[in-house]
Amino acid sequence: MLHFRHVKYHMKKDIHPEYYPQATITCACGQTYTIGSTVKKISVELCAACHPFYSGKQKIIDTARRVEKYQERATKKETTATGKKTKRAKRATQKAEKQSKKVAEK
Ligand SMILES: [Zn+2]
Repeated sequence: MLHFRHVKYHMKKDIHPEYYPQATITCACGQTYTIGSTVKKISVELCAACHPFYSGKQKIIDTARRVEKYQERATKKETTATGKKTKRAKRATQKAEKQSKKVAEK
């Protein structure tokens, strides 16, 4: 019980970190904001100035090449699907050929 109280005390202490009333947020679009925060500097990829929801423009800020990577993956998936289809089509043709041969033998 005493140990549990000790842990609780430490957790409570961690809820109050150092506070910076003049912290700066820097966005990928170049906007900077000054706010109160527990961290001195914050970097964001989207802010109210460049987010499509606020700006009304469809704009992709691809700082981590996420879109490119997704498109790459999507293209790969498409190719694999087509490959499977071709294989299945081949098998179907072979089956049809075998069946036609059987019919011809009879
Ligand atoms: Zn921004």
